Amino acid sequence: MGLLAYFNGQFVPLAEVKIGIQTHALHYGTACFEGIRGYWNPDAEQMYIFRLREHYERLANSARTIRMKLPASVDELCDITVELIARQGLKEDVYIRPLLYKSNEIIGVRLHGLDDAFVVYALPFGKYLDSEQGVRCRVSSWRRVEDGAIPARCKITGSYINSALAKSEAVEDGYDEAILLNDDGHVAEGSGENIFLVAGGELVTPALSENILPGITRNALIRIALEEMGMRTVERKVDRTELYSADEVFLCGTAAEVTPVLEIDRRPIGNGQIGQTTRKLQKLFFEVVKGVNPKYAAWCRAVYPVTQRATP
Ligand code: PMP
Repeated sequence: MGLLAYFNGQFVPLAEVKIGIQTHALHYGTACFEGIRGYWNPDAEQMYIFRLREHYERLANSARTIRMKLPASVDELCDITVELIARQGLKEDVYIRPLLYKSNEIIGVRLHGLDDAFVVYALPFGKYLDSEQGVRCRVSSWRRVEDGAIPARCKITGSYINSALAKSEAVEDGYDEAILLNDDGHVAEGSGENIFLVAGGELVTPALSENILPGITRNALIRIALEEMGMRTVERKVDRTELYSADEVFLCGTAAEVTPVLEIDRRPIGNGQIGQTTRKLQKLFFEVVKGVNPKYAAWCRAVYPVTQRATP
């Protein structure tokens, strides 16, 4: 069976979802979206969707900012997403992509008075960056979008040209990922990830006011580090050269999960190996997302009915 999508209020084959060439969002970047992971846990025979509600809440915020309306409540969209996966019986790790876009086929750049269309689908998905071996980064020559120009805290399709410019520059220069500074020269984030430093026994990450996307993984790691490792995270401005002197650096995001950074601008980070704090946090993170740590059960939405296992 081919993959399904939920489109225009119905479950339909993904391959049949087509949009017209004149679609507003295609020309003007007038859409917002999310990236969500579902983790298949073979021991529990269960699929857990990580922080599904928080992703739809962020989508609602993006939508509000660019004058759009979600087709249903956050809770209903969560249920639709669960049903989308359950109907397909998917039993492997997936990436879920909801997209809300301006669907009119007209010329004229604006936000108001247009129609919104919504689609969500899920694809089998593996690693995005090499979180096992770690990655090499460069500081991009492109600056992160300023919130006063394009709302930086929203996940708006048009703003991803900023990420794409930085990512291609980095990869074509032989690196794995880009790190963008914001317009005042402080560290913002990766092309599709937030960034953390380990320095002096503390975790440090750019504050939400640094034109970063308020990452849901970032937020999860702040709590996991505090509660499971007793490490607090300082959210503040981060200078570029702090990256070079950090003991450890890692990127995090739905796609990137927890990815160690071994080198930035040809300078090894710490001893150039994956650091202990990063490894520990990565391990804890994977336990949480796979639904293994009951303390974080509220972050893991089960897709399939929970079967009572026979107790001996
Ligand atoms: N920054 C950017 C630019 C991103 O695209 C993403 C991925 N959504 C992130 C950070 C990480 O956010 P999250 O942890 O919510 O996936």
